[in-house]
Amino acid sequence: MSFLEIARRKKASERVILNIGDCLTWYNLGKDGADGGEMVATYLSNLPRSILCMPIYNGQREVIGVAQLINKRNNQPFTDSDAITFEAFAIFCGLGIHNTQLYESACKLMAKQSVALECLSYHATASPEDTERLRRDEIPSSAHFHLYSYDFSDFSLTDSDTCKATIRMFCELNLVNGFHIPYDVLCRWILSVKKNYRPVKYHNWRHAFNVAQTMFTVLKTGKMEQFLEDLDILGLMVACLCHDLDHRGTNNAFQQLTASPLAVLYSTSTMEHHHFDQCVMILSSEGNNLFQDLSAENYRKVVKIVEKCILSTDLAMYFRKKDKFIELVDNGEISWQGEDKKDLLCGMMMTACDVAAIAKPWEIQHKIAKLVADEFFDQGDLEKEQLNQQPVCSGSAYLE
Ligand SMILES: [Zn+2]
Repeated sequence: MSFLEIARRKKASERVILNIGDCLTWYNLGKDGADGGEMVATYLSNLPRSILCMPIYNGQREVIGVAQLINKRNNQPFTDSDAITFEAFAIFCGLGIHNTQLYESACKLMAKQSVALECLSYHATASPEDTERLRRDEIPSSAHFHLYSYDFSDFSLTDSDTCKATIRMFCELNLVNGFHIPYDVLCRWILSVKKNYRPVKYHNWRHAFNVAQTMFTVLKTGKMEQFLEDLDILGLMVACLCHDLDHRGTNNAFQQLTASPLAVLYSTSTMEHHHFDQCVMILSSEGNNLFQDLSAENYRKVVKIVEKCILSTDLAMYFRKKDKFIELVDNGEISWQGEDKKDLLCGMMMTACDVAAIAKPWEIQHKIAKLVADEFFDQGDLEKEQLNQQPVCSGSAYLE
């Protein structure tokens, strides 16, 4: 073991500054005890004259290294002032090493995340068999599904019908031809979106489908499509179908109260950010990219529209923006052009479609209200179970 090695080990174990002005004398005096004895004679000729050695700490005051200076140039021992300057340097080294270690662990975590994402997107995608079946199926007319009606109800439709009705809406809005969406990609994407809704009582695929149908009716029957470009319409329809993806039947307040990982990730509009992330995950999965034929600029634009529209389904966002919207309406706004006004309009349309069940004929409305209430009570049970408290059911934030 070399002299320098001994000095380094001593520093790491004792956590003190070692300042030796004359190494040979220090060795001969046996100040190093047993450690010094391990030094072989051949190293004696290479002994440094002087040495200044100190531990490097991380944020938890653990020794993660040793900094060492040898042989001061003027042949004098290192001074106390040298030691103070060197200590500052050791702190700087500690920060550098700590940051490097953090960076390495962040890289590993990111690699782990992309492996998990790859795995997730593989399993999240619709099967080739289901895709092929839907691709071959006849798509009934809009009239068959009553798609142009605000009184529409999905109760009599099978899951397969809801997928066909979605295709019909995309065709009717000229999105399939207009944006060159390959038909098999459209079928796979719809099935993948459906697959990524959980079987909770209200915020499931049926809710997303109904919101998309209401948007379709608002655009066509309500003639709102005249204020929008085709790209806005594509973004709105995608946003409607994806706006509650992977909903767990619990609201944002519940995520905050239980400090769920999602709440750690997003402190505001927690679930809505997650719905958008899931939407992007599906679009990025192989064979699911509806926007694959768009130019880079239109791609960026439509993803931004989808993001804004999904985030606007957070009712907290609606309450912040509605006064501005009402003010514009009261002032006779009729064109709704310009990015800000269009964003506001699209946000209001999203909320209107999201809560449109309340405006359905009574026999439809009361069935849906029961589903909403059932899911909300399920959350209440979870609150009792996980938070050991009486459910806090803030009536305003659960219908979205
Ligand atoms: Zn919703």
